[in-house]
Order: sequence, then structure tokens, then C-alpha cells
Amino acid sequence: MSRFYTITLLFVMLAGALFVSGLSVWYVTLTIFIYSLVMVYASAYIGSGFYAKAICHFQTDAREVAITFDDGPDEKTEQILELLKEAGFKASFFCIGQKMEKHPRLTERIVDDGHLLGNHTWSHDSMFPLFLPARINQELVRTNNIIEQHIGQANVFFRPPYGVTNPFVSRGIRGIFQKVIGWNVRSLDTTNRSKEQVLHRITKNLQPGQIILLHDTSQFVVQILQELIIHLKQEGYTSVALHHMKDLNSDR
Ligand SMILES: [Zn+2]
Repeated sequence: MSRFYTITLLFVMLAGALFVSGLSVWYVTLTIFIYSLVMVYASAYIGSGFYAKAICHFQTDAREVAITFDDGPDEKTEQILELLKEAGFKASFFCIGQKMEKHPRLTERIVDDGHLLGNHTWSHDSMFPLFLPARINQELVRTNNIIEQHIGQANVFFRPPYGVTNPFVSRGIRGIFQKVIGWNVRSLDTTNRSKEQVLHRITKNLQPGQIILLHDTSQFVVQILQELIIHLKQEGYTSVALHHMKDLNSDR
């Protein structure tokens, strides 16, 4: 039984027991309120593993992390690829289907350079997590068709937009993806933080096996990557692509 169904069942049993025990109806209301908070947390926090078992870090004995980029390919992707190439780093790119269709050459280069090309939906619509499972499935299959033309095999890697998972997303991805990829270092590079603040967030607690979230679309991504590469190299670290990791298992 999934964690979602187990928790829901426990709360229903608790609410039922409180109801029949004749205690004030406020206890039942409080139980429902706490249940709602748990569900909001579970949807918004990809590491919760409630609706999809996500990989948020990887096991390694080496000084290596996985830098990941969402929302491309975009105008800064070329420079990102250049920096990675110079550094000898590999990364993982979770790309949007309609952008890959618009930028086939860039998409091809991601693969040619040895990086992971993964699915980040067709539209990245802000309402995506609320689409019905059939529509979610349709978006993901359409995006996979493009990815598979480039990688020449079935794609199993998916990162949900905004890291949001819920029963709709969970059903929409069923049977398509074996690897849902989250992160454990959220750089917040798309907020209005300065590049120094973003870099500090990434590097303040550097550890092997971390999955770092960046975006091709953020304002200072090129400068941030430049500084990050210097810092990682000084600390003896490298960046690996997630499809090169043998023991890539979900956290839960
Ligand atoms: Zn995104």
C-alpha cells in the first residue's frame, strides 16, 4: 500500500473513532485540518515520497555531485554546455518538450556531450499538477517521443515541474517512468536572490551524492555555474550525470 493510502486510512480511522466516541466535533475538524496540512506538505515536498518515490540524492564514495538543469533548452543552454565541457563535468538536463521541438540542435548537443536528457513535461503549464492523469500521461509520452529520437532508447527519467506530485501526477506517470528525480539542494536561482546568495546556498554544506537544482532560464545561471565549477574543483569535486550512476535508487 502506498504511503498516501496508508496515511489517508489512518486519518479516516482516527476521525471515525473520534466521531463515534462522542467527543466534541472539533476534534474531528482538527483531525481533518491536520490531514490537509500533511497532504499539502506531501504534494509540495518531492522528498516526502508520498505520491512518487523520488531520487533526491545518490550513493557514492567519491567526491561527486549531480548538477541538474530544468526548463531548457533555452538561450543560455549553449553557454552552460560550453562551461561543462571545459570543466569535464557531466550534468542532467530535464527539458520541456515544446522547447526541445524548437531547439533540436541544442537538444542533440546535450546528448552528444554525454549529459542526461530527461522529461520535464511538454508544456510546463503552471496548472500541470492539476491536469487529469490522462492529460498528464499524454504530455509525458509526447515529450518522451522527442527525447527517444535523440537518445535512441526508452527514457525513464522524469522531474515533475515545481517538484509537485499528487494522486493525478502519480497516476499520469504510472508505467512510463522508473526514475523520478528530485533534489536535495534547491538553489532558488529563479528567485530574486543575488548570485552570491544562490552560490552560498549550494556550497554551504557540500557533500558527495547531492543533487543540485538549477535552471537554464535563471538570470545568472551562467555566472553561477562558472563560480560553482571553480568552487567544486577547489574542493576536489566533480559533477556526474545521473544516468551514469549504477545504484540510483529512490530515497524511500
Ligand atoms: Zn521546471
